Amino acid sequence: MQRKLVSIQLIDSLAPIAGADAIDQARVMGWTVVVKKGEFAPGDRCVFFEIDSVLPDGAPWAEFLRTRGFRVRTVKLRGVLSQGLALPVAILGDGPVPEVGTEVSEPLGVTKFEAVLPDAREIAGPFPTRVPKTDEIRLQSALGVLDEIRGREFYVTTKLDGASATYYRDLDGALVACSRNWALAPGENHVWRIAEQHQLATRLPIGLAIQGELCGPGIQKNRLGLPELTWFCFSIYDVRAGRFHAIDEMIACCADLGLPTVPIEQDVRGDAAAAYVHTLDGWLEAARGRYPGTKNNKEGIVIRPRVEARSEALGGRLSFKVINNDFLLKDED
Ligand code: ATP
Ligand code: MN
Repeated sequence: MQRKLVSIQLIDSLAPIAGADAIDQARVMGWTVVVKKGEFAPGDRCVFFEIDSVLPDGAPWAEFLRTRGFRVRTVKLRGVLSQGLALPVAILGDGPVPEVGTEVSEPLGVTKFEAVLPDAREIAGPFPTRVPKTDEIRLQSALGVLDEIRGREFYVTTKLDGASATYYRDLDGALVACSRNWALAPGENHVWRIAEQHQLATRLPIGLAIQGELCGPGIQKNRLGLPELTWFCFSIYDVRAGRFHAIDEMIACCADLGLPTVPIEQDVRGDAAAAYVHTLDGWLEAARGRYPGTKNNKEGIVIRPRVEARSEALGGRLSFKVINNDFLLKDED
């Protein structure tokens, strides 16, 4: 599910910050955000901007972020983590206040910060329509997933900080190699290099799309410290069946093809899964840590049920990410 970048939300609660008399901390969905004292009361509606919102140049309410390129980022204020921005609904102008949940990024002129990935020259065509694009919702933006995963067997993988790459053998047998949003032309690019290395054009079963993270020298900052380009599988989608493989199927398929999967940090089954207490704070703590053998904070974790399930909260596959707040504060580009 695409998260809502800017939406109408409720101020769930407010609390003072020790030693600060101009600001309070507010709770909005699963996020903690610092607000001006007196601007809101609990239960008020607000305009909530998620992290990575880029505010418009020219709006008076955006001016305070000019020196930071108008980007809403994770910050620590008086020792309190602030993630997002809550402003009064008055910035929307006159007229009725939209319902809670309404996306308002367009009328406000807000766009999303995207790190520029240098593969635009190699585009061969659109991303295959029958394959879902890779994406993960942030837990704080969809707390309902905690109720949906509760009681199920689940597994946790490390979120690798690389570039998304999908390989699909279409129903005619042709290999389509894709970045996050595009099919790429064969040639001198990382995505096709992996395809050749693993002979995916002939070895990948027809109708399957394998999706993973491409990591290594020259990709992002190679925070995993890898000596060479490596692709790590995190999903397999069967186009004819219209479904994702469960984790065990994915592991078996990767073993057949000689492909690594993303690291599996936890595999929780049976009574341990039934009794597991899923909380936002618990998952935030689990998301911390470093990539093994490095001093680099890992980006976070991804949590999924061992048996694929549909999420009503997400309107799609039950799966979510928890980003490491140490990474957001210190390492994020
Ligand atoms: P947001 O959705 O929060 O706006 P975003 O769209 O830039 O951010 P990312 O934070 O990059 O998304 O998170 C989703 C991506 O994480 C996926 O597209 C995938 O490429 C990547 N990823 C890395 N490791 C994993 C993993 N273990 N499981 C699933 N996806 C992973
Ligand atoms: Mn996303």
